[in-house]
Amino acid sequence: MSADTNPLAKDLANPPVDGSELIRFDKVTKRFGATTVLDELDFSVASGKHVTLIGPSGSGKTTILRLLMTLTRPDEGTIKVNGDYLTHEEKNGRLVPAGEKHIREVRKNIGMVFQQFNLFPNMKVLRNITEAPVTVLGMSKDEAEERARELLDMVGLADRCDAYPTQLSGGQQQRVAIARALAMRPQVLLLDEVTSALDPELVAGVLDVLRDIARSTDITMLCVTHEMNFARDISDQVLMFDSGRVIESGTPEKIFGDPEQDRTREFLSAVL
Ligand code: ADP
Repeated sequence: MSADTNPLAKDLANPPVDGSELIRFDKVTKRFGATTVLDELDFSVASGKHVTLIGPSGSGKTTILRLLMTLTRPDEGTIKVNGDYLTHEEKNGRLVPAGEKHIREVRKNIGMVFQQFNLFPNMKVLRNITEAPVTVLGMSKDEAEERARELLDMVGLADRCDAYPTQLSGGQQQRVAIARALAMRPQVLLLDEVTSALDPELVAGVLDVLRDIARSTDITMLCVTHEMNFARDISDQVLMFDSGRVIESGTPEKIFGDPEQDRTREFLSAVL
């Protein structure tokens, strides 16, 4: 589906894309026990851009997405989303740890698709998608259903509204999970190795849906992926991680075609 034919293209990302900074990590440190997973990490993502995180397993990529979803908290440093602190709030001119209400508000800007789909098993496909817009955004059931049907059409599952997740293949479940994340009209879509739990023959269908979304919408994407061809296709910028630090970043042409760091070269020759 192209930008011209995708009826949701203009409607997916919430505010207009103006290239401003949507995500900012400032000196973010995250430790698990004695292990420092992220070490004073600085990075930012401009709105509307598609940024891919690559690097060896254990280098901290998923932790970045989990921090943005507030599934885990940083030990030091700050994270901003669309200009608002995610983990802190300003009170009387001072930064204090954010309360649940503040976190919920800022997190409304963020949608995430996980490796393991995480659909609600007891709900049919349509309800999986309408649940959060109705309960969190206060959308009417009719409007949420109409939009869910459009999104299901976009991911090629218009005829599976009444199925339960277990009646679908892994690839279909993952496409429902993508529709569910988009139903909240997030400004940024986080994709955490979304094809790594799939049988090989189901990977292409999911990546095609994501390619289409990347091409035809304004949504900002932050992806962790081992699918290097996909990363090359959709990314405006690729960040190479090693041991909790960005060791190199650039366009896909640069990172895949002419990387500067030996570590990047080694990593790519092992995975490509
Ligand atoms: P990547 O996505 O690059 O593979 P992760 O961010 O998943 O890396 O993990 C980075 C490191 O943090 C790994 O060594 C991992 O074992 C560790 N880690 C991640 N989550 C936890 C956790 N909840 N408890 C303890 N260690 C964790």
